[in-house]
Amino acid sequence: MPAAFIGHGSPMNALEDNRYTAAWRSFGQAVPRPRAILVVSAHWFINATAVTVMPRPRTIHDFYGFPRELSEVQYPAPGMPELLEEVSEAVKPTWVGADADSWGIDHGSWTVLRHAFPQADIPVVQLSINADRDLEYHFSLGAELAALRQSGVLVLGSGNVVHNLAGVDPRYPDGGFDWAQRFDESALDAMLHEPAASVGLQAHQDYHTAVPTPDHFIPLLYLAGLAAAAGRQAETLVGGYTFGSLSMTSYTLDVECPDTGQDSGPAAGLPVGVPPDSTNI
Ligand code: ZN
Repeated sequence: MPAAFIGHGSPMNALEDNRYTAAWRSFGQAVPRPRAILVVSAHWFINATAVTVMPRPRTIHDFYGFPRELSEVQYPAPGMPELLEEVSEAVKPTWVGADADSWGIDHGSWTVLRHAFPQADIPVVQLSINADRDLEYHFSLGAELAALRQSGVLVLGSGNVVHNLAGVDPRYPDGGFDWAQRFDESALDAMLHEPAASVGLQAHQDYHTAVPTPDHFIPLLYLAGLAAAAGRQAETLVGGYTFGSLSMTSYTLDVECPDTGQDSGPAAGLPVGVPPDSTNI
C-alpha cells in the first residue's frame, strides 16, 4: 500500500478546489482501495502515543475564526477499533494507548480526506503525536508501521514542512520567504534522496524559524521512516508556499499519481481580521 505526507495549510482547503486539493484527489484516485487509513495529524499532539478506537469517530472542528460552513463539515468515515492491536504489534515494545472518547477525526485529517477519499467510506484511525518524544522516536515509529502498509493500511501524515503562524503574511498568498524556501528545499533533498537524513533537519540553520513548534513537521518523519524502511525515496506530489511562512509541499511513496495539469495558483486563504496564530490551523 502506498503512503503519503500532505501539506494541509488552511482548513478552507477542505471546501475549495485549487492545485493542491487537485493533487490530493489525484493521490486518492491512484491508490488501491485501502482496508483502513491511519492518519498522523499535526493537530493531535498530546503527551502519549495513542490511537483512536471509537467505531464512529466524530468530526472535530479544532480551529477559530473561520466561516460557519467550515464548522458544519462532517467526515462520517467509520473507525476500526481492532487496528489498535495491529499498531501495538507493529511498534512493540512501544506502548500504544486507546482513545475511546477524547479525539476523533480532526481538521488536519478531514481537510485532506475530503478530497482524497470523498466518499468517507474507508475506516479512519488517528495516531497521536507524542509531544514528549524526540524526532528520532517519530522517525523510528514511522519505520515500524511498515507492517501495516503490507496489510493494506494507508499511512497518511498531515502537517506542513514549514509552519510559522506568527510569520504569516497574507500579502503573499502563494509566496515563501527565503528562510522558508531554504528549509523546504533541504527537506525535499532529504525526502527525495536519503529519507533518513530528514531527522538531521533539526540542525538546519532555519529549523527554529521554519519549525517553531514540531507538531506540523513531525508527520513528515513518519513518511521518511516508511521510505527508509522500504529502502526507497519519496516523490513530490505537489510543491509550493502560502502566506510566506507555510510550505504546502506533499510527498508520496510507492504510487504514480497522474499529473493534474495545474501548476500555479494559491492555496486557500485565512479569515480576515483574525490573528493567524490564534486560528490553530
Ligand atoms: Zn494544521
